[in-house]
Amino acid sequence: MKSYLEPKFIIQRDQERCIQCKVCITQCSVDTHYYDTEDDEVKSYPDTCVGCQRCVVFCPTQALTVKKNPNEYRENYNWSPEVIEDITKQAETGGILLTGMGNDRDYPIYWDHLLLNASQVTNPSIDPLREPMELATYLGRKPDRVEIDPDTLSLKTKLDPLVKLDIPIMFAAMSYGAVSINVQESLARAATEMGTLWDTGEGGLHSKLYKYGSHTVVQVASGRFGVHPDYLNAARVVEIKIGQGAKPGIGGHLPGEKVSDQVSLTRMIPQGTDALSPAPQHDIYSIEDLAQLIYALKEATNYTKPISVKIAAVHNSAAIASGMVRAGADIIVLDGFRGATGATPKIIRNNVGIPIELALASVDNRLRQEGLRNQASIVISGGIRNSGDVAKAIALGADAIYIGTAALVALGCHLCQQCHTGKCSWGICTTDPTLTKRINPDIGARRLANLLHSWSLELKDMLGGMGINAIESLRGNRLHLRGVGLTDTELRILGVRMAGE
Ligand code: SF4
Ligand code: SF4
Repeated sequence: MKSYLEPKFIIQRDQERCIQCKVCITQCSVDTHYYDTEDDEVKSYPDTCVGCQRCVVFCPTQALTVKKNPNEYRENYNWSPEVIEDITKQAETGGILLTGMGNDRDYPIYWDHLLLNASQVTNPSIDPLREPMELATYLGRKPDRVEIDPDTLSLKTKLDPLVKLDIPIMFAAMSYGAVSINVQESLARAATEMGTLWDTGEGGLHSKLYKYGSHTVVQVASGRFGVHPDYLNAARVVEIKIGQGAKPGIGGHLPGEKVSDQVSLTRMIPQGTDALSPAPQHDIYSIEDLAQLIYALKEATNYTKPISVKIAAVHNSAAIASGMVRAGADIIVLDGFRGATGATPKIIRNNVGIPIELALASVDNRLRQEGLRNQASIVISGGIRNSGDVAKAIALGADAIYIGTAALVALGCHLCQQCHTGKCSWGICTTDPTLTKRINPDIGARRLANLLHSWSLELKDMLGGMGINAIESLRGNRLHLRGVGLTDTELRILGVRMAGE
């Protein structure tokens, strides 16, 4: 069947600059560039181009420009070019439209409607270059009160296991298979260097990464891939994954082509078979079931690790979170709809879930009202773009933040949304051995550690500006936030006052 779809991108090659080196041919993972032997010239076939910009970055003479196809459809607000293209694709394939990364719709980004405070005359600001600033955060269940032995002045209260993060930013769950082993190694090494955690996602833990266990969150998801006692005990935190922001309510699918021998060994599934994680966690159909699984995991790890429970941010997140804490979760992870994923139905990604900012504010509020806030840490993820978002999230009530897409961008990702194809030209979302080599773990770990280092310096600047010398003092302190361009209802849910008040 002839496709009625037009190329999404056009490629312009400046023949004056092009030296026919063929680098663009070798760098492209979707065969957009080719060598025409008759004309003795490198040419392009734009139909396959996904706009990943890899060839543009690596062209030694800056001869290439990749642009959105300027061909215009007749203007129609309802029937936008994307709607027409999606219907055309479905008419040609008869299948569900898959995509990668997170929701890219223009729903409000509340971080951009919140502004931080700064000290002026009273409560003077603190200069982070001259005075110590503390970014350390402890994740896990904290007691309602502590008892001190008056004779020895030692702590009598038995504390639940806590995890110290040197910075309140962790790397989000990205499974082996969805991303390459070199990406995971880069994440693990950067997390170790920066005193924070990375997360295996639901794909198990490759044997070469066990040495980073003390900086690792391991997931127990609905597919139970790679879950065994050594895996659980290697980790610093065990995370039960119930939902994911990019695809709330549905399971996961790693195509068989991405299940290589190493992925199959790590996930404990046959090589080349599709790894399908069921939509529900079949262990969990009630809060009591969740309590049972949390208990089982605590027993399996001898009560040495906090147990985290991750859900997608949805309409009634606050009530769900309250139940999760009562079930024994030490950490609650809320994943918003801008959270990325390797593959998801586009219709789910674009239409399901709620903004993470509103979910965070309502969960923090509910747990405070119920006197439960100290019993679990709150971690959020889903589209955190910079240290400003991090500071605002902490002021809204988060203890720490997971970053996924930002970490991938640090590794080279250009958000082409083709992760589900396994042909990531940047060597990130792939198990292809040749593409995998495009991420060098030495360089990857350096880039990721640099990113975290930059953000931690900026966080210290912002804290100092507010006259605060510890991130703990910012947590849930909404007096340091003001809203702009928000309705009364939005301000009420966020728990912040209007700028000027
Ligand atoms: S990489 Fe640049 S210089 Fe080399 S063949 Fe392609 S367009 Fe020409
Ligand atoms: S990870 Fe790779 S495939 Fe996915 S959006 Fe980024 S560049 Fe594209």
